[in-house]
Amino acid sequence: MSWNAVASFGPKAFHDLRLAARDVAARRRPAPADLAETSAQDLYLAPHFDDICFSLGAFVHRRRQGMLLTLFSRSAYVARPRTIAAEGDERIAVISNLRQREDLTFAREAGLTSRFGGLDEAPLRGRGPFEAARADEDARLLGDAVIDAIFAARPEEPGGRRPWLFCPMAIGGHLDHLVVLKTVLRHHEALRTRWRIAFYEDLHYAAAWRARADGLLRFQSLAASLRLRRSFWPIGEAAGKLALVALYPSQFVEPPRSIRPFTPAQFIPTPVHEGLWSADEP
Ligand SMILES: [Zn+2]
Repeated sequence: MSWNAVASFGPKAFHDLRLAARDVAARRRPAPADLAETSAQDLYLAPHFDDICFSLGAFVHRRRQGMLLTLFSRSAYVARPRTIAAEGDERIAVISNLRQREDLTFAREAGLTSRFGGLDEAPLRGRGPFEAARADEDARLLGDAVIDAIFAARPEEPGGRRPWLFCPMAIGGHLDHLVVLKTVLRHHEALRTRWRIAFYEDLHYAAAWRARADGLLRFQSLAASLRLRRSFWPIGEAAGKLALVALYPSQFVEPPRSIRPFTPAQFIPTPVHEGLWSADEP
């Protein structure tokens, strides 16, 4: 990323520079104290298997408690399709089971309990994964199932501080990520009675500057009423997060060797980290 490159984006340049400044400010600020509070009732929303590990693996592994809810847990995607011989419905069952086992291993490693929403991922619904134009329609069709799965994982009546709910920002524009985000925003007031809500930068998508900047712009337009600030969560030893990512071997042709796809893109050189956005709440 260079100044020339920014200049060539024309109308997006202002947004890019503003984002770069917010990133620097986030890095200089101490992380919010309330986000450091953990609870066994914290809820991590993953549209797909692996989304929490790739986006927040180091953060989650440090906290060591909470629940992982993987919503679209019927899947036919593996990085090496020829390794699965089954066809049709059996193929979906075999791949979903394989990926569920990977998710359970990650959850165990990170100290999380886990649940599966049982929803079909976009291609199984006849959708292109990045068919963002269908997001409103699919959020209408699937929103009840998504919100029911979330509230089924709700904490008991709150006493003391509410636990955290971690929601994807849909950076990258995957249709299923947009469905989860739009549903959470639509039910934000009801959800807030049970949880404090933070939004995470989706990796690997946010590892590319253009995708990240465009994704955050779309997020801001969807969540315009929320006043959120970024917080910066260092990954520390890259090998630790890479070991977590490697718990999802079905998603890689070669084992992941670089941490770059698993840290948000920044305008200036920045230590590897994970990114959250949350409101300053009492
Ligand atoms: Zn995903």
